[in-house]
Amino acid sequence: MIPYGRHHLEEDDIQAVADVLRHGDLTQGPKIAEFERAIAQYVGARFAVAVSSGTAALHLACLVAELGPGDVVASTPNTFVASTNCACYVGATPRFVDIDPETLNLDPVALARLAETESLSAIIPVHFAGLPCDMPAIHAVARRSGAFVIEDASHALGARHEDGTRVGSCRWSDVTVFSLHPVKILATGEGGLLTTNDEALYRRLLRLRSHGIAKNPEDFVAAGGLDAEGRPNPWHYEMQELGFNYRMTDLQAALGLTQLAKIDRFLTRRRQVRARYDEAFADLRFLRTTQKGGVDRSAHHLAVVRIDFAGLGMPRAKFMQELASHGIHTQVHYIPVYRQPYYARFDVRPAAFPEMERYFSEALTLPIYYGLAAEDQELVIARVLDLCR
Ligand SMILES: *Cc1c(COP(=O)(O)O)cnc(C)c1O
Repeated sequence: MIPYGRHHLEEDDIQAVADVLRHGDLTQGPKIAEFERAIAQYVGARFAVAVSSGTAALHLACLVAELGPGDVVASTPNTFVASTNCACYVGATPRFVDIDPETLNLDPVALARLAETESLSAIIPVHFAGLPCDMPAIHAVARRSGAFVIEDASHALGARHEDGTRVGSCRWSDVTVFSLHPVKILATGEGGLLTTNDEALYRRLLRLRSHGIAKNPEDFVAAGGLDAEGRPNPWHYEMQELGFNYRMTDLQAALGLTQLAKIDRFLTRRRQVRARYDEAFADLRFLRTTQKGGVDRSAHHLAVVRIDFAGLGMPRAKFMQELASHGIHTQVHYIPVYRQPYYARFDVRPAAFPEMERYFSEALTLPIYYGLAAEDQELVIARVLDLCR
């Protein structure tokens, strides 16, 4: 079976994990800080914090944004549920904004319109399929509303903004979040990252990652932390707020480091796969490729096409079954989050999101990943062409 996405491991990745098993710390050891430094440098941010998943990273981002009941958080419906679940975790209210049909990202014009009638506490733009959102426009809305900006860059490690800076540099946001789930650009098993340029946010993220406990004597506030001479007592630690165990392990950080060393290769190959689809599907009547404006900047986490299934006279389920019968696994990214039964409590009407609804009816994700063999991609193309003609 050819999946829609897949991680890629090489011998040095396996060796790096085995080395930690033989010599290292299993939970937080030196590889965590090394990985965080490497990521911060790669994306061009001052600080990075490694955590147990992208979802944990989103939750911590909402906590440092001080979101809670009564706060409204704007995001896109074209995403994985985790992008807005994090707002629900802290009791805030998610509000969806329709997408731009060209970028498939949150439409900054619709966002600005929402900001005129609603007081937004935070905005969570998602760089869908690896294409960065129009961050200067989103940042301008955030500035006017005083909203905190959390970039969900789970798809977009290595992608670049229009000005050439890398996603994660937080030039137009407070915090950026990445996922290291195996289907994403780099794999650490489970894993997530936050980047920021704000030192106070950084210190708080470190504390929240581990139960809200401060270990650094400079941060102690309680009596009993220091002895009569002002030296830290060796047994002392302080839980200063309610945190979590969202730590990444050294095993995962070691894998993250060897994976990061391969990222240029990974991105180049993904771009090639995408370019081949664009070439092969250029002349089809009922199939269109997407996000054409940013192919050289995207991280190409997903290869999404739009198919007019009604025009073609074949329902999407049948189209997917036909491909599956040839060993080709496709998917739909995404069911609009507001259509999820849990989200019914937020009183959302699909009719309020015409672009998202149209896109959802046409979306199909084709295989794209570093290890996709050229002949396997040609098989995908041949079968899709068969079905579209
Ligand atoms: C994968 C993903 C997440 C969640 O990341 P995990 O590491 O699986 O917790 C969040 N947002 C988006 C857009 C994702 O694709």
